[in-house]
Amino acid sequence: MRAVTVRPGVANSLSLVEDQPEPPAEEGAVLVEALAVGICGTDHEIIAGEYGDAPPGADRLIIGHESLGRVIEDPSGTVQPGDLVAGIVRHPDPVPCPNCAVGEWDMCRNGQYTEHGIKALPGFARDRWRIEPQFAVKLDPALAQVGVLLEPTSVVAKAWDHIERIGHRAEWQPQTVLVTGAGPIGLLAALLGTQRGLAVHVLDRATDGPKPELVAGLGATYHAVPVNDLPFEPDVVIECTGAPTVVLDVMCKAGPTGIVCLAGVSSGGRIIDFDAGALNRSLVLENNVVFGSVNANRRHWNMAAQALARADQVWLESLITRRVPVNRYADAYTPGPDDIKVVLEFAS
Ligand code: BGC
Repeated sequence: MRAVTVRPGVANSLSLVEDQPEPPAEEGAVLVEALAVGICGTDHEIIAGEYGDAPPGADRLIIGHESLGRVIEDPSGTVQPGDLVAGIVRHPDPVPCPNCAVGEWDMCRNGQYTEHGIKALPGFARDRWRIEPQFAVKLDPALAQVGVLLEPTSVVAKAWDHIERIGHRAEWQPQTVLVTGAGPIGLLAALLGTQRGLAVHVLDRATDGPKPELVAGLGATYHAVPVNDLPFEPDVVIECTGAPTVVLDVMCKAGPTGIVCLAGVSSGGRIIDFDAGALNRSLVLENNVVFGSVNANRRHWNMAAQALARADQVWLESLITRRVPVNRYADAYTPGPDDIKVVLEFAS
């Protein structure tokens, strides 16, 4: 069968292996036929040789962590043949740490977790894959076209879950949300904000292309201005660009008791002249919280599946701006100017 692979740590080693062995039984009881794999910034970092680890003893990593597939067989009976499923990306560390021990692998404390397609576990960009039943998430059959968005949605479902837990440290009645970055994570974060009945604002550099219309389609407001020019102070910020100046600007912009969730990963190495004391002063005097958020546990995956099922399916479909057959994998992994989400498709 076919599998999209890289040699971790080696830039531009992306290749399609045609004679990949079938997934071994040890990978899990649920055998799945791949339908689609989504591509994100982490995949680009892995392809650039900057991130990712092969499974122990292997020199290649099968990539792909945003999955959608159809169950071929599950002798455990947890899911049924024909069910649509996605595979949970992260698996708990073997120690396990206190968080992994209770299923909170997204909060792993010792860094020994593994991740399909990223860190020491084979990914989902192959014709067939296997997974343990407890790591298979069943999707509503109506989500066949957009279910590949479940993984990025799980990441924002976790971000929202933690924002709400932090918010409830005191009386909390948020009204305005600022999302910075109108890529897939930002747009899905905005979707979950509108599903909560909040006034959502999305800020991005783009003045044309699909982003302004996608934001309008949610009933949210689009801004292509610097953060400092926004005419309001948000109660909640979800920062999805990882751009250092935007990160600092939103910390300063949050209103009293504001919560800033950092969900974008910066590359590092850029030095900025910045008044850290003024930031400290405003964070303390306004009871603000700034926190980081990555990955998602089973509860968040279930929340994400519900959020996608509730969403406008036409809007979700319009997030997928390119669908590329696996045999043209190199095109799929070459960024295009108007890409939101690019998806690799596995023909049945
Ligand atoms: C994935 C997460 C993962 C993170 C770090 C992200 O792209 O969505 O599941 O934890 O990368 O590896």
